Amino acid sequence: MKIPVAIAKGDGIGPEIMDATLFILNAAGAELELHEVEIGEKVYLRGIATGMDPKTWEVIRHTKAFLKAPITTPQGGGFKSLNVTVRTTLGLYANVRPCVSYFPFVDTKHPEMDVVIVRENEEDLYAGIEYRQSPNVCQSLKIISRQGSEKIVRYAFEYAKRHGRKKVTLFMKDNIMKFSDGLFHKVFDEIAKEYPDILNEHWIVDIGAAKLADTPEIFDVLVMPNLYGDILSDVAAQIAGSVGLAGSANIGDHGAMFEAIHGSAPRRAGQNVANPSGLLLGAVQMLVHLGQERVAERIHNGWLRTLEEGIHTYDIYKEGVSREKAGTKEFAKAVAANLGKGPEQLPPVTYKSFPHTPAPPLSEGPFEDRKLVGIDVFIYHKPPLTLFFSRISHIAIGPLHLKMVTNRGVRVWPEGQPETFCIEQWRCRFLGHDNVAVSQHDLIQILDAFDRVGIEVIKSENLYTFAGKPGF
Ligand code: NAD
Repeated sequence: MKIPVAIAKGDGIGPEIMDATLFILNAAGAELELHEVEIGEKVYLRGIATGMDPKTWEVIRHTKAFLKAPITTPQGGGFKSLNVTVRTTLGLYANVRPCVSYFPFVDTKHPEMDVVIVRENEEDLYAGIEYRQSPNVCQSLKIISRQGSEKIVRYAFEYAKRHGRKKVTLFMKDNIMKFSDGLFHKVFDEIAKEYPDILNEHWIVDIGAAKLADTPEIFDVLVMPNLYGDILSDVAAQIAGSVGLAGSANIGDHGAMFEAIHGSAPRRAGQNVANPSGLLLGAVQMLVHLGQERVAERIHNGWLRTLEEGIHTYDIYKEGVSREKAGTKEFAKAVAANLGKGPEQLPPVTYKSFPHTPAPPLSEGPFEDRKLVGIDVFIYHKPPLTLFFSRISHIAIGPLHLKMVTNRGVRVWPEGQPETFCIEQWRCRFLGHDNVAVSQHDLIQILDAFDRVGIEVIKSENLYTFAGKPGF
């Protein structure tokens, strides 16, 4: 039974690496029924902001997986990231990026490296909720939810369990982002307890990233919020040998998308030089996902043998190690000729069936009494503070009164310092004594008071306590 799969050849080097990948899949006997869809630059330039024709959604929905070559996002504003749109619309919450070194056949400073980055794929700054709030100030919202964190952290531990991996490491920055990364960390600690046979540890992302770049062999499975995962999986793939070598799976409960981690490399397009390995390894992940593990093994092991034979595309070619600088097509032919053979020095790959099991019902989270206690009002006003302070300091509604004013998070009233550099966005916090409860109506009256004194409100944020603890 052939399994229906959507494919898109994308832009730049996309068509060449897709043709090479399909050539190998076909030669290996992959049981796939291909449905080609058009995405990317041409679609964007037809005026479709997502880079994807609405008809394409139907094809993707009715196939079991989507194998996607990289696309080019046109320059200029108004274009939405197609990758982010597909991942979030289809709920592809787990982005799995294995980064392995193939030393001594591919040059790397890290011969022992074998890490899998499991990146949260739907939240964080990638929610794309951004605003230009004033002529000189922009804002992007970082969203982290308990549900999103639970899904990805559990996926990372399940992945480790099923693939016989020993340790899951969390990267985050909850020393600074105490609520958002703090929640991710809390959920990690809770779920780690359910997997006593798997080691767990956590690193602040900055030193963690330094360790990953320096001694990647100390890591096994890594789990992290979206942005850190995006950046660090490129770093990991590059230090393992080349970004051109890494594949990427985007897994959800209702679909899956497989791709290379790199982009469309337009400078290399049309020259038959690009390395198809990233997309090919993405396709190998797809075959495992679709239950065609034996075909996945044939391809992966034939590909390893090709690397061992020194048949290398330009990006990994090295005098003294490589035997032949192969073009994209020639590399694909060499892999196809090696199907059925395995590597002689590198460890051969074996795949077990790894059908995706949907995320278990998500926890409701702890029940905590939630109380509305105040409001942060963000206003647009050119510095200095004194120009508008006299107009707002008197504002008081019910128990609410002005508690502090900050600029870029730094308190400038009361007890500000003259050295603090200020921009045109100010945050004015209104709270009652001892975080007493207030009503929505009180908050509306605070906003109304700003209107009455002629000060422009950019946005506001309600302040809550949870079981008596401030959530701000
Ligand atoms: P890129 O990853 O496309 O390429 C950067 C450089 O890496 C290339 O110039 C090339 O030297 C090398 N490289 C990448 N892939 C290679 C391969 N398979 N073989 C050999 N060398 C390879 O990054 P970029 O140049 O910053 O982005 C180009 C376009 O790709 C942009 O429009 C960007 O938006 C898009 N992009 C798309 C995806 C995707 O579709 N998944 C991901 C990232 C970037």
